[in-house]
Amino acid sequence: KPFPIHLSGVVQRGFGRGGKDLGCPTANLPDESIAPMSSVTDTGVYYGYAQVSREKDGRVVLSEEDGKVLPMVMSLGWNPFYKNERMTAEIHIMHDFKTDFYGHHMKAIVLGYIRPELDYTSREGLIDDIETDKRVALNSLARRAYEDYQKDSFLDLTT
Ligand code: ADP
Ligand code: MG
Repeated sequence: KPFPIHLSGVVQRGFGRGGKDLGCPTANLPDESIAPMSSVTDTGVYYGYAQVSREKDGRVVLSEEDGKVLPMVMSLGWNPFYKNERMTAEIHIMHDFKTDFYGHHMKAIVLGYIRPELDYTSREGLIDDIETDKRVALNSLARRAYEDYQKDSFLDLTT
């Protein structure tokens, strides 16, 4: 049983395409942070919790939106830009952020698998599936057994 998987890194700029158009921006983790995910070789869509925070002079700075533990869906896939030699992990956080958070620190606890990567013949098909993924994630995370992960010491920024 590979879960929970802990990931953390600084949010990277991607190609900036697709995400916001589809109503589903995805915060990209740096390549080197994905190693813990390689034990799970399957590409596809996962769910769990994510947390964004900012550091200034080596200290965590908490603002209104930083530091919260929020539900997320994550896509793990092979990046065509690197001739499919590298896995990429992109996280959509189910929260309406007021601003972008490129360069902020992001931690994620991956708790389960939703589905494999699928091919789409239409944009609508993809958007529909993303909506289903979000519902599956929220329904799964509503289980009592997952509550404790929100308070996981991995996400404790005060230590
Ligand atoms: P990119 O290709 O640069 O990743 P996206 O369209 O996928 O472009 O947008 C991702 C960026 O949007 C994130 O890095 C983050 O700064 C911002 N963002 C705003 N709201 C969210 C959200 N709810 N989930 C993930 N990223 C978000
Ligand atoms: Mg993205």
